[in-house]
Amino acid sequence: MQCFRTHKLRPVLIFSMLLLGVAAWAVGADRDAAFEKARERMVRTQLQRRGISDPVTLEAMASVPRHLFVSPDLAEEAYTDGPLPIGFGQTISQPYIVAFMTETVRPVPKMKILEVGTGSGYQAAVLAETGAEVYTIEIIPELAESAAARLQRLGYVGVHVKEGDGYFGWEEHAPYDAVVVTAAAPFIPPPLLDQLKTGGRMVIPVGSPFLLQTLMLVEKGEEETISRSLMPVRFVPFRRDG
Ligand code: SAH
Repeated sequence: MQCFRTHKLRPVLIFSMLLLGVAAWAVGADRDAAFEKARERMVRTQLQRRGISDPVTLEAMASVPRHLFVSPDLAEEAYTDGPLPIGFGQTISQPYIVAFMTETVRPVPKMKILEVGTGSGYQAAVLAETGAEVYTIEIIPELAESAAARLQRLGYVGVHVKEGDGYFGWEEHAPYDAVVVTAAAPFIPPPLLDQLKTGGRMVIPVGSPFLLQTLMLVEKGEEETISRSLMPVRFVPFRRDG
């Protein structure tokens, strides 16, 4: 019986490992290309066709890899037309709603935006992609921690995450050009209005938890603050329990 010598096997092993590495890379690149295609389709069919027209918003939605903001088993569903679970009973909003809220605050580079309800960090990443500096607060410690790590890993240096009750806003960095609230509150938290600049815009779902709520646009003027209903929505509740 003939035995193989290890020094003869070594080049074969190295070659096989290289081959495997190249194959894995090719599969990864294929997957990335498929996700990019799905994202482009999402922008066309879910956003543009429903009236989202701000180029900055559309560009941001086409850039942020939504499949990396959900758990790996949901990655294939990331570009479908609906919300998805992110754990702890919370959800990442439907792409259309994220785009609508982004467009509503009229993003321009260097804007300072406060977000309440970090969740997965997706909405914060979309806002950051428009060139804004984003301060975002999350009440569930595990979500705050995982979103902060994810945003850092993906290079979103313009997003600052804090764990806490967003009811009180983030005084230290106020005033904000815009406030985006992604959990439904029974009323507009007064500290959030105080921390909004004069001339600034807030977009917030208002109404009873678990029922249909109204997405409101609040514009803070010199003399008065004007609130307008934009559309019926369904968001997870704004929590006050810590
Ligand atoms: N913007 C998120 C989706 C958020 S879901 C995304 O893009 O993934 C709403 C989030 O608001 C949940 O994570 C919930 O825990 C958080 N939340 C609810 N009440 C809050 C509060 N008082 N302060 C801060 N975050 C709150």
